[in-house]
Amino acid sequence: MIIHDYHNAAALLNQGQLVAIPTETVYGLAANGFDGNAIAQIYEVKNRPQFNPLILHSNSLERFKAWGIELPAAALKLAAAFSPGPITFVVPKSNWVPDIVTAGQSSVAIRIPNHALTLQLLSSLDFPLAAPSANLSGTVSPTTAQHVEEQLGEQIGAVLEGGECKIGLESSIVSFVNEQPQLLRLGGLSIEAIENVLGQKLDLSKLINNENPEAPGMLSKHYAPSIPLRIGIPADFYSTYAKSEIAFIGFQNAQADLLPQNQFILSPEGSIEEAAQKLFAALKMAEKCQVKIIVAESFPNQHLGRAINDRLSRAAKN
Ligand code: AMP
Ligand code: MG
Repeated sequence: MIIHDYHNAAALLNQGQLVAIPTETVYGLAANGFDGNAIAQIYEVKNRPQFNPLILHSNSLERFKAWGIELPAAALKLAAAFSPGPITFVVPKSNWVPDIVTAGQSSVAIRIPNHALTLQLLSSLDFPLAAPSANLSGTVSPTTAQHVEEQLGEQIGAVLEGGECKIGLESSIVSFVNEQPQLLRLGGLSIEAIENVLGQKLDLSKLINNENPEAPGMLSKHYAPSIPLRIGIPADFYSTYAKSEIAFIGFQNAQADLLPQNQFILSPEGSIEEAAQKLFAALKMAEKCQVKIIVAESFPNQHLGRAINDRLSRAAKN
């Protein structure tokens, strides 16, 4: 059920139910972050592995502080520049945080989402919201309320309507557990922007993606559409597939050889932010074309283009 009033969302969350919430990154599947039973339902509904910890969301750093969760100086600098926004901080946990949130780890991930309605909801609650993306584990993340309703509507209390997600990629995750800040996930805030404000380099050694040759086999399948996806068009492609069997996701230009109705061009004007914002919806539309394969272009590998390439590589993993 799609609802529009955050008070109704708050009532459901107070009862221990799951509510999908809008954020600027993607829609989240939220539960009371201090209620182990409510959180267990998140894992169940998403079919999410228990070892994959969740991010806690609230509306201010002061509230996290009241729950015993504090940011070190470097993280505060980033928060001043980018929070509320698409950045998640991993810091030492407090006793307020149940083990099911952190998958037993001694650190916790926190974020302040930049979405007016969800900030109102968060400030009306006495607890933070644990919220991973509101999709079945491994599938494409939702960027509209309708996406969530289609996949999970029957199984959850409600979806709070908050419009199309403005960023469209998950948050960038930075860990402050070690001396040097470490990037754990490429996301809606670029490496360049983060390093610029930090005034130091991020440790990128934990990034598991196709750019890290030390971990070639570790590229985890994720963000996967129901139709196979590959990156780039090999020479013999058109002898393997008929034109009508191919959907295309590109940055600025359509492919002259392919059917116009099966092509999703993310930003004809070449804005990488616009391309990021449209990526997941395009994957979902391509899934619905009657095709055998989705072909995606490789994006310029800088700024948000890196995060787009990361998501496409995971979608392409078989
Ligand atoms: P999702 O909410 O589905 O976007 O995923 C949340 C991501 O945050 C997961 O990939 C986790 O690995 C990461 N994460 C959450 N909590 C922690 C933590 N305490 N330490 C490291 N990574 C975390
Ligand atoms: Mg997810």
